[in-house]
Amino acid sequence: MATTPEKSAELLNATAELTIAGQKVRLEMPVPAGPTRLAELLPLFRSMTDAFVAVSVENARTEGLAVSCRKGCGACCRQLVPIAEIEARRLREVVEAMPEPRRSTIRARFDAARQRLAQAGLLEKLREPRQFRDEDVIPFGMDYFQQGIACPFLEEESCSIYAERPLACREYLVVTPAAHCAAPTVESVSCVKLVLRTARTVRSLNAEHSEYGAPWVALILALEWADAHPDGSSPQPGPAWVREAFGRLTGHTVPEAAPET
Ligand code: SF4
Repeated sequence: MATTPEKSAELLNATAELTIAGQKVRLEMPVPAGPTRLAELLPLFRSMTDAFVAVSVENARTEGLAVSCRKGCGACCRQLVPIAEIEARRLREVVEAMPEPRRSTIRARFDAARQRLAQAGLLEKLREPRQFRDEDVIPFGMDYFQQGIACPFLEEESCSIYAERPLACREYLVVTPAAHCAAPTVESVSCVKLVLRTARTVRSLNAEHSEYGAPWVALILALEWADAHPDGSSPQPGPAWVREAFGRLTGHTVPEAAPET
């Protein structure tokens, strides 16, 4: 990884070159040079996710698998979506920035979803992701899906916040017939095999550096969670965050880069 100072702002142009599954991937990322909260790197994590998903889709294509996801097909948007703490706060900002009456409409959908989850007896468990054992996640996710609760941002079966959608949503692409997504099982729905799992990496990075330590937050509880958990995290230099993120992603220690001259 190399970094070049940008003259007009305290940003570094970081360049990462990776070879993944035989494909060369070059990422150029503006990274804040100084003390930075992890939340400020969310745009960078989105770019990384999109780049790695593109490689993954190309890999699938070479294996004869085509992505069957289409605009207007929102079955997966009734699933339990795990997001990072920084994403929950970002979604709250997105909602708060909406003009009225849209903001109230979206907030009302979150409230209605919460009531449905309470009626189904799922709400309290969902509020405590640290209590989940690994083996609980899939059965709980099935129970959740059976409630048929649409994501509050789903409109006409499409994502109404597409540019702001969470990392997990960006990574979820299926290669099995779209009709199977209405009643998914582990056997009937297959996803594009990801070459690198950015969403999961960001969640764990976030949890480790957060005073709350939530391994994930359910998208459907993002607003209440963000309301109750202000960002009290410690900043660190942007390049240190990026090195740690790539180290976790790849399983290799990323050395500190010397500035290019
Ligand atoms: S944020 Fe968008 S893509 Fe993600 S679950 Fe909600 S509607 Fe679907």
